Amino acid sequence: MISSVLPTYNRAPLQFNKGEGSWLYTEDGRRLLDLGSGIAVNVLGHAHPALVAALTHQAQNLWHVSNLYDIPQQQALADKLVDHSFADTVFFTNSGTEACELAVKMARKYWHDKGQPEKTDIITFGGAFHGRSSAAIAAVNTPKMVEGFGPLLPGFAQVPWRDWEALNETITETTGAIMIEPVQGEGGINALPDAELKALRALCDDKGILLVLDEVQCGVGRTGKLFAHEWAGITPDIMMVAKGIGGGFPLGAVLATEEAASGMVAGTHGSTYGGNPLGCAVGKAVLDIVAEPAFLDEVNAKAGLLRQKLEGLVASHPDIFEEVRGSGLMLGLRCKVPAGDVVQAGYDQDVITVPAADNVIRLLPALNITSEDIDAAFARLDAAATSLETEHA
Ligand SMILES: *Cc1c(COP(=O)(O)O)cnc(C)c1O
Repeated sequence: MISSVLPTYNRAPLQFNKGEGSWLYTEDGRRLLDLGSGIAVNVLGHAHPALVAALTHQAQNLWHVSNLYDIPQQQALADKLVDHSFADTVFFTNSGTEACELAVKMARKYWHDKGQPEKTDIITFGGAFHGRSSAAIAAVNTPKMVEGFGPLLPGFAQVPWRDWEALNETITETTGAIMIEPVQGEGGINALPDAELKALRALCDDKGILLVLDEVQCGVGRTGKLFAHEWAGITPDIMMVAKGIGGGFPLGAVLATEEAASGMVAGTHGSTYGGNPLGCAVGKAVLDIVAEPAFLDEVNAKAGLLRQKLEGLVASHPDIFEEVRGSGLMLGLRCKVPAGDVVQAGYDQDVITVPAADNVIRLLPALNITSEDIDAAFARLDAAATSLETEHA
């Protein structure tokens, strides 16, 4: 018999009833170190007092009014995002997938209104992940995600990750946008070198193509800059964010330049919940902390510390781990044994990591993880690796 929850997930048999900082607690008293953060979501850990205060204050006053009216919390968060980014304007969504959906529509509408309606095509990259809507799966087009869900939305092409020659060959007069994650998450923590992102920006400028960055996973302080593309010193035309921006409350956004957003006039897009007072009040509280330069300095310091520990881990367990990769606190360990076994061995040592493609486990801790918790992470991962060595010996 089918379970009452649609069985689309393979869930680990773990149930949590409380979170505090970087720790999760189970009903039966286990305490696990959370290096997954709900897949890069809980950027300030669990139950951060400032976020709890923002949410409860808003909950006591007003939950929802719809976008038929001005929403001051939405305005405040949009102003803050505009102040701290390349963007001139912001649309709020409830998820990364919805942000992808709008990014696709915005790019197409831009060229339509510019009198070049043939420029509908969007190029993406191998290993990419942009969500699970019909547009987002068509964009990525991996057999696992699209099989049985056709006909697929047309107008997408894909080239292998970092294959710039293939990209050049794929660009035609119908190419309207290129969509890319500066650091791939689901694909296995693959960071695009700054020079290549710079070159991609130049290529887009040269060919008259919009650059759409998907920073749903790598944005909001994760790499040690507020947005990952800042490392390369470039700006996109359109950017998707979600995950970290709500710190655990469902919230996403599309940020854009005035030019790229010029087609999106009244009536062209909407969302009942998108930008509602609860989500925006929390999002503002997240950014008030994460956008502070001193906070980001601290993220970079923690990232250096964690990375150094992980390099040591790889060196002392050469049969389990191959390499450390990633940027900031978006780190991956490529495994030599099945990544799923490493995640499981971690559970057994009360440490949570997240599997990704390419046999990688992801470490996406809270951005305010303490040095003591980084030590605990190392000790637990070390114990997990040792248990696997015993098993595989
Ligand atoms: C998670 C993710 C998405 C989809 O976001 P949802 O909130 O799950 O819809 C899109 N792009 C990237 C890079 C992601 O990591």
